[in-house]
Amino acid sequence: MSEDLERESMEYDVVIVGGGPAGLSAAIRLKQLAAEAGTEVSVAVLEKGSEVGAHILSGAVIDPKALNELFPNWKAEGAPLETPVTKDRFLVLGPQGEASLPMFALPPFMHNHGCYIASLGNVTRWLATRAEELGVEIYPGFAASSMVWNDDGSLKGVIVGVVGIAKSGEKKPDYQPGMELHGKYVFIAEGVRGSLAKQLIAKFDLSAGKSPQKYGIGIKELWQVPPEKHQPGLAEHSTGWPLDNNTAAAASCTTSATTTCRSAMLCTLTTRTRGCRRSTSSSVSSTIPRSSRTWKAVAASPTAPGPSPRAAISRSPS
Ligand SMILES: Cc1cc2nc3c(=O)[nH]c(=O)nc-3n(C[C@H](O)[C@H](O)[C@H](O)COP(=O)(O)OP(=O)(O)OC[C@H]3O[C@@H](n4cnc5c(N)ncnc54)[C@H](O)[C@@H]3O)c2cc1C
Repeated sequence: MSEDLERESMEYDVVIVGGGPAGLSAAIRLKQLAAEAGTEVSVAVLEKGSEVGAHILSGAVIDPKALNELFPNWKAEGAPLETPVTKDRFLVLGPQGEASLPMFALPPFMHNHGCYIASLGNVTRWLATRAEELGVEIYPGFAASSMVWNDDGSLKGVIVGVVGIAKSGEKKPDYQPGMELHGKYVFIAEGVRGSLAKQLIAKFDLSAGKSPQKYGIGIKELWQVPPEKHQPGLAEHSTGWPLDNNTAAAASCTTSATTTCRSAMLCTLTTRTRGCRRSTSSSVSSTIPRSSRTWKAVAASPTAPGPSPRAAISRSPS
């Protein structure tokens, strides 16, 4: 008997892989449109993190434009966007200190007025609650590991909950084939460099004629700042030191209503156009002084082992 025949399957109108802002917004909008049209749409969202928000790189300056469209009343409904940006600052850093650039000299996208400082993890948790209220079925702790195809070559669904595969690829005694989730539509909302998205890009040649992939490194940290230095609503961005002039990078520090500051540094890993010196992660780290290297990447929460999909995924009666 083939492995596919051993697998159970469940049918949905829409299966969404990824419980980030994109996947959850899509699920919510589908349910809203179905309600407006007086129809029923079954929507499942798969999230590999142990809970929605567990894998979301959190601190963010958020433009509420999309939220305004999704939930025009989001403030009254308790969306966790508590701290409006009240001040923008852009600094150029050097070994001797900093120079602050006047904001009027900077392009509009560098201005954050009208935006909010928030935890993107908390925003996605709030979106997940709203999605469930609308009838979306969310399955945290379930990674979609591969795809299944229709005879005509279109995407039929995804496989979740496969366990017991050794690093070598061989099946271990505790092997379970997982479960297939089929959708009339399957949305891949895995975020950047999703494992299924990469397969789809290759299979359908989706990168043909597009700009080449760019790579970067981001590090984030939550800082508790002393109350006397705390400036709620400040969105500060900087560039320059401790990186050299050949390394494109920017840092940000955003301060919420509590005395927490969310600090981030992003650095491209692209090739220099002139001289073609490749700026790699090791050359980046070697340019950062030891004192600054205490910055660390935010560790993603491990995926919960979770119950077997058969036990955990029980479709609510439609
Ligand atoms: C360092 C950094 C700073 C940023 N700062 C800001 C900012 O200040 N403001 C702003 O607006 N944006 C910011 N962004 C961008 C923002 O994080 C993204 O635009 C946004 O998270 C994209 O949403 P998404 O839903 O497409 O993907 P993601 O947020 O990446 O969500 C994808 C979800 O899918 C899940 N997933 C992935 N693969 C699978 C799978 N196979 N099966 C099941 N689940 C899966 C992941 O666990 C994750 O929860 C920042 C990004 C970075 C990296």
